[in-house]
Amino acid sequence: MVLHDVPLSGYTRFGLGGPAKVLADVATPEELAAILATPGPHMLIGGGSNLVVSDEGYPGTIIRYLDEQLTVEGDRIRVGAGVDLQKLVDRSNHEGFEGLHTMTGIPGWVGGAIYGNAGAYGHSIQEFVETVRFWDGTEVREFTNAECEFRYRESIFKKRKDWVVLNATLRLPRSADPARMRAESDRILQIRNEKFPPTLKCAGSIFKNLLLAELPPEVQMQVPKEVVREGKVASAYFLEQVGAKGMFSGGIRVADYHANLLYNTGEGTAAQVRHLIELLKSLVLEHFGIHLEEEVQYA
Ligand SMILES: Cc1cc2nc3c(=O)[nH]c(=O)nc-3n(C[C@H](O)[C@H](O)[C@H](O)COP(=O)(O)OP(=O)(O)OC[C@H]3O[C@@H](n4cnc5c(N)ncnc54)[C@H](O)[C@@H]3O)c2cc1C
Repeated sequence: MVLHDVPLSGYTRFGLGGPAKVLADVATPEELAAILATPGPHMLIGGGSNLVVSDEGYPGTIIRYLDEQLTVEGDRIRVGAGVDLQKLVDRSNHEGFEGLHTMTGIPGWVGGAIYGNAGAYGHSIQEFVETVRFWDGTEVREFTNAECEFRYRESIFKKRKDWVVLNATLRLPRSADPARMRAESDRILQIRNEKFPPTLKCAGSIFKNLLLAELPPEVQMQVPKEVVREGKVASAYFLEQVGAKGMFSGGIRVADYHANLLYNTGEGTAAQVRHLIELLKSLVLEHFGIHLEEEVQYA
C-alpha cells in the first residue's frame, strides 16, 4: 500500500508530526527493495512508539515493514519485524517460554525492539535473540547475536540506519508454566498501566538511564544507593533534582509523577518536545556536569 501526504501524527504514540510525502507498507524484501529504489529520502518506522516526528513532516518515503509471521519450532520462535511486541510476548507465555514476559506492555513492533534493544525490569530482547535477518541495501543478510552488537538500548541497527530488520529468530528456555507467565505478565501490565496510562500520548522514557560507573566520581558520590539498579542510575533522578517534574513547553509536559516522562496534552508540537528536551539536558549538564542522551528517536 502506498499513500501520499499522510499526517504522521496518526502513526506515532506522541500524536505529533506533519505529513509524510509518501507512506509505504511493504511485507517482503523484494517490495522493500523496490520502494528503496524510488527517490529518497527513506525512513523505516514501526509502531511509532519511540518517535518524535517533526512538525514539518517527512520530505520522503516513510516505510513500514509489515512481516507479521510468527512461528514456533522447539525452543525457537521466528518472528517478523512487523509483529506487535505484545503479540510475541503473549505467544511466548502461551508456549511456556520463560523470559519475554518482562517485556509485557512495551509498545511497538519487533523490528523497533531489536533496533533499540528494548527491555524492562533488568532484561532486554538481546538475551533471547539468536539471529537477525536484515536488508543491507543490496541483499538479505543474517547476523548472529554477537554481530548485532547489542548494548543497553543499542544495537548495530541504530548505527546503520540504512539497514532494515526483516525478522529474527529467538531462542528461549521452554521451562515455564504458561499460567504463571500469564499471571506475571498481568502483574507487570498493571504496574505499567499506572505509569503509562494506555491513552497517554508519549514515547515512554525520553532519556536513557546512566551507568553509575561512567559518571564522574563527584556525581557518583551524590547518588543515593536506592536509586541505583543493576549498575544504572535512572535519569529521572537527575531530572527530578533540577525540578523537571511538571515543567512544560506549550502543550508538552513533564509528568508530575515521573521526571523522565514527557507527554502531549493534545495541543503540543514536536518543536515543543525538542525545546523541553534541550532545556532539561542543559539543566542537568549545568547542575551535574553530565550529558543526558535521548532514548527517543527523531524523524
Ligand atoms: C508508554 C511507553 C512505554 C515504553 N516503555 C518502554 C520500556 O519499558 N522499554 C523500552 O525499551 N522501550 C519502551 N518504550 C519505547 C518503545 O516502546 C520501544 O523503543 C519500542 O521498541 C519501539 O518500537 P516501535 O516499533 O514503536 O519503533 P518506532 O518508534 O516506530 O521506531 C523507533 C526506531 O526504530 C527504527 N526501526 C523501527 N523498525 C525498524 C526495522 N524494521 N528495521 C530497522 N529500524 C527500525 C526506526 O527507524 C526508529 O528510529 C516505551 C514507549 C511508550 C510509548
